[in-house]
Amino acid sequence: MPTLLPEELVKWQFVESQVKQVMGAYAFREIRTPIVERTELFQRTIGESTDVVSKEMYSFTDRKDQSLTLRPEATAGVVRAGIEHGLFYNQTQKLWSMGPMYRYERPQKGRYRQFHQINMEAFGYQGPDIDLEIILMTARIWKALGINSIQLEINSLGTPASRQVYRDALVGYFSDQKDSLDEDSVTRLKTNPMRILDSKNPDMKGLILNAPKITDFLDDESKQHFSILLKALESHGIDYKLNSNLVRGLDYYTKTVFEWTSDQLGSQATVCGGGRYDGLVEQLGGKDVCGIGCAIGMERLTELVEVSVEKAENSQPKIYIVAVGEGAEIHASIMAETIRDENQNYAVEVNMDGGNFKQQFRRADKSGAELAIIVGEQEIEQGTISLKPLKSDDEQTTVKQEELIGQLDEFFG
Ligand code: ATP
Ligand code: MG
Repeated sequence: MPTLLPEELVKWQFVESQVKQVMGAYAFREIRTPIVERTELFQRTIGESTDVVSKEMYSFTDRKDQSLTLRPEATAGVVRAGIEHGLFYNQTQKLWSMGPMYRYERPQKGRYRQFHQINMEAFGYQGPDIDLEIILMTARIWKALGINSIQLEINSLGTPASRQVYRDALVGYFSDQKDSLDEDSVTRLKTNPMRILDSKNPDMKGLILNAPKITDFLDDESKQHFSILLKALESHGIDYKLNSNLVRGLDYYTKTVFEWTSDQLGSQATVCGGGRYDGLVEQLGGKDVCGIGCAIGMERLTELVEVSVEKAENSQPKIYIVAVGEGAEIHASIMAETIRDENQNYAVEVNMDGGNFKQQFRRADKSGAELAIIVGEQEIEQGTISLKPLKSDDEQTTVKQEELIGQLDEFFG
């Protein structure tokens, strides 16, 4: 479970603020659910036979022997909360959430045991127009972050009924070729046959290529939904790649499923994955309300954002207050509070724990501040302050104390 250090978080905060702005522009609102939920919730939504539930959950019992789990994904909790708080009664919902998720996976680049997702979900919209809107929203997020090397892959898993027929066909096909299956696929054949299509084993490639295609099993309703969506994507100029082997790792998906992948990320290439889950709310005891959502992996997303870091880093100019002499320290901290009262866009650092001018200036340089404000005995006496630019050769200037804010605004432009 990685720790995110301050330097890295500068980029994260920039990315998060851009993403929030885009989601706001589509009228999505934030929801925050607990990190811990009952284990049963995930078993019922994600599915017992999925990798996530069968081997990746962090579960424990509390003091009353109740089994709880650190959330491996967000949708289950959002649906649970929505049912509990009546969010699905006579209204539609567009919700987003952001936060850590936990999966006991083999850690490697782009894959961690604690990772962060941005989740978007919409409830109560039946037609493909919401599928379109969610995809447009994610496309706009890439654009806002200057990401070009990203590709949409899309598939339809159909209604539960057509999915069942397909599942049977798949079991027939793979059972006939049982000797050619790898160990993983033999297990999946019994528990979750569609997941065989997701196998990363090159030896399985040929077999998968010739397997029955879900697209040939879609019922009319699913077909129509899918073709309207694809046409709409074309109208918006969104390139997509049809991928009939895209099945997604969780059991609850219906109809549209999609992933955004990038060739800049090595083997953990999927930045965002999602799809429809029309039966999920009802399955968890709520009304028959359809849903769709997707999740962006923050670790992989920030990996793709390079150019904007400097912009983010410069967003809060830094001032260091050097204070030497009788009464200078309290004077400096009062001045810092005054600056913060006026304008919180400046990061103000007051020298602490004393030191002579030389020591304090060394700390000021090390802090990365662009400007030092000098408070010495002479300044206090005369009601002035001295300003010394730290990242240029410009001379030190002395101004009246009441001119400080104006001087700062001028200096930082
Ligand atoms: P993958 O195929 O990479 O395992 P997934 O299908 O399990 O992904 P989802 O459950 O759909 O992933 O989660 C959506 C996104 O969350 C992924 O596309 C990815 O960006 C991110 N993600 C998932 N698991 C991890 C992880 N262990 N570490 C970092 N990011 C992750
Ligand atoms: Mg996974």
